[in-house]
Amino acid sequence: MRIAIFTLGCKTNQYESELIRESFEKYGDEIVPFKEKADIYIVNSCVVTHKAESETKKAIRSAMRKNPSAKVILTSCFANLNPDFKMKNLVLYTGERGKLADFVYKKETSPVNLDIEMISQFSERTRATVKIEEGCDNFCTYCIIPFVRGNKIMSKSPETVKREIEMLVRNGYKEVVLTGTEIGKYGEDIGTNLARLLAEIKKVRGIERIRISSIYPTAVTDELIAQIEGKVVPHLHMSLQSGDDEVLKKMNRNYTAGEYLKIVEKLRKKDPLFSITTDIIVGFPGETEEAFLNSMQMVNTVEFAKVHVFRFSKRPFTPAYFMEETVSENTKKIRARRLSEFAKEVAKRYKEKFVGKTVNVLVEEELNGFFYGFTPRYLRVKFPCKSSGILHRIIPVKITSADSELLYGVIKTE
Ligand code: SF4
Repeated sequence: MRIAIFTLGCKTNQYESELIRESFEKYGDEIVPFKEKADIYIVNSCVVTHKAESETKKAIRSAMRKNPSAKVILTSCFANLNPDFKMKNLVLYTGERGKLADFVYKKETSPVNLDIEMISQFSERTRATVKIEEGCDNFCTYCIIPFVRGNKIMSKSPETVKREIEMLVRNGYKEVVLTGTEIGKYGEDIGTNLARLLAEIKKVRGIERIRISSIYPTAVTDELIAQIEGKVVPHLHMSLQSGDDEVLKKMNRNYTAGEYLKIVEKLRKKDPLFSITTDIIVGFPGETEEAFLNSMQMVNTVEFAKVHVFRFSKRPFTPAYFMEETVSENTKKIRARRLSEFAKEVAKRYKEKFVGKTVNVLVEEELNGFFYGFTPRYLRVKFPCKSSGILHRIIPVKITSADSELLYGVIKTE
């Protein structure tokens, strides 16, 4: 059969789409681009924002238009949130993603089980994402995820994670990105933690870089910081969400701006150029101009390499859904623009610290005679090179200039 997969949302969804792809390939099916005619369309959905929810519905409709007699399977968060959602030829599937093809061929449904989830390839990617955990019980007041991904923590055993990474190394991957719903919760259900897992997977021969995708600030303990060296790259995506303590309290984020800064200090004490990226929400109910300026101030103080700015949008089932909105849509737009522009200036300031330095780049793509790839600090580098034999290799590049998005350089040897 011809199978088409459409993936929305987070790294965990991207990983699970790989599981789905491999499950059908085991039956000899062909994976085709979503824009083509297929026998089965799979929409791996997301509901983290209102926009993601409407894009999910759009993808379902577009599949049905392309082949009205095709089966459309809806998986992940939209299916979990709307178990009664019905459309002609639409099937909802919330079981183990790696067993989706068995569900289609044998009508078997298997519960989610992380210890059978292993991928051997990450299509069209130089870096492979590895899902190690599922579930979150932090219940930030704006977040729908515990209601769709569950608040029961499920961790993949260290042995399974190691075997999966060994397989990926055999298939040529030099970098793995560890992901989950909230990987700071890793191991709570199996008597271990992320720091101990890192110590184990560092032993895997042939893996050159281990990256932690996104982590809750208070999960960045001294024990974890001690493991962030060698193969574990000096970059963390540590969501701040707001720089104002009152707003953080209303978000049920259990840290203050001061405590967040203390963690940053510990990371920068270990590596003065430790790279931190983050998410910040503007326009949360109760956010005053002064509170917003506290977020701007944090961006300046931390010197983030990148800030993802989100405008607050109400999500069903969340406590924030019932909070009175005090910030108009127009003010949210203005604050989002001000914060994005300022964050770009700060990112440029941080990236200019690499001018004159040589950085190791894992080369991912070639475009118009230039090559692009990421450093261990997750900085994107652009440089010219005559031979294309450098793709998927780690190359030393001397940095000559920088802007808010890119570092520019030349290959050290040439
Ligand atoms: S920690 Fe992340 S996933 Fe968990 S509730 Fe908060 S925002 Fe959502």
